[in-house]
Amino acid sequence: MECQPRPCARCGEDIPAERVDALPETRVCVRCSKEMGGEFVVLVSAERTSKEGSLKKNYGGYSTRKVRKPIKPRGEE
Ligand SMILES: [Zn+2]
Repeated sequence: MECQPRPCARCGEDIPAERVDALPETRVCVRCSKEMGGEFVVLVSAERTSKEGSLKKNYGGYSTRKVRKPIKPRGEE
């Protein structure tokens, strides 16, 4: 698949094709990603394996979820 530059969701400048190629999910350019402290946050939540109120310890694992940070136009943060 050929990657095309696309406009940054934050500042409107083109995201270079190389970045789109390396990070197909990205919606912001390198500079904005840095300014935002990263485009994604990883949420970790414990998996619930026992019933509510149970005294049994929860030995369940953890699940991680990668979510996109809300993107606000530059200058409105
Ligand atoms: Zn940008």
